Amino acid sequence: MTAVISHPDCTLHQNGTGSHPESAGRLGAINNQLITSGLDCVLSHYDAPKAGKHDLYRVHTREYVEQVFRLAPQQGYTMLDGDTWMNPHTLNAALRSAGAMLKAVDLVMTGKHSQAFCNIRPPGHHAGKSRAAGFCIFNNVAVGAAYALEKYDLQRVAILDFDVHHGNGTEDIFSGDQRILFGSSFQHPFYPYSGADTDVPNIINLPMPAGTSGEIWQQAVAQQWLPRLDEFKPELIIISAGFDSHWKDDMGGFKLLEADYAWFTQEMVKLADKYARGRLISCLEGGYDLPSLGRSAVAHIKQLAEFQS
Ligand SMILES: [Zn+2]
Repeated sequence: MTAVISHPDCTLHQNGTGSHPESAGRLGAINNQLITSGLDCVLSHYDAPKAGKHDLYRVHTREYVEQVFRLAPQQGYTMLDGDTWMNPHTLNAALRSAGAMLKAVDLVMTGKHSQAFCNIRPPGHHAGKSRAAGFCIFNNVAVGAAYALEKYDLQRVAILDFDVHHGNGTEDIFSGDQRILFGSSFQHPFYPYSGADTDVPNIINLPMPAGTSGEIWQQAVAQQWLPRLDEFKPELIIISAGFDSHWKDDMGGFKLLEADYAWFTQEMVKLADKYARGRLISCLEGGYDLPSLGRSAVAHIKQLAEFQS
């Protein structure tokens, strides 16, 4: 069975007073579609624990972690960067989001589940060692990967990011760390305007132009990521699942469809079965068009769960 990890606190975080694309409705859209599709009854649901400061210190500077705790408002809002705000519930939501990855790592490393999906917000992949950015506060996948390396003594963890935006925070944290192989496929040139010229052995980015179709994206993944993953032989695979690369999502200009996420997930399941005893964790990043977000997440989780409908 596949685990789904979330927490009600994740729905209470709001990015300021106005309407914001990174909204609580995103988690609901995924949950509703899980139920409608019939997939929900083959999933095991878990509440995310809160990450502790020591979990955050593995990937963020102490100064930054302390700053986030200090800025967390009792009432109203504080701004961490132009796109990223905190309300009185945000700190707990961010700690639960990072904590979901800790729970996922424990579940797959102890063999209780082979796969896990973290249905959480705020997302994480733009959060670097010492800064919040682009709706992200703590780097959830990085917190999970660093925990897996330390607690379970792993030597090789792969992180693949299919969000339409470059996972610049994850790259900042793990650049040069040979225990991690990190690949981000993203629209270029586009926010956050980084990652296209990275020349570091453990970073395998795929910058691609606006309008990239699923067919072209699949070719690039098959030619450039799959052979590197075969060489690397990851003991754990983590996916930064950003569904804003969907054709219907106007936060970006890629044209991926549900079938592309399903294909990618199948490839990751095959690799995890081959090298990682099936251990595969996926964590929500972007995805702002609610109907396509729900459908895409379900197409992805169906393949994680190897669910035949
Ligand atoms: Zn994104």
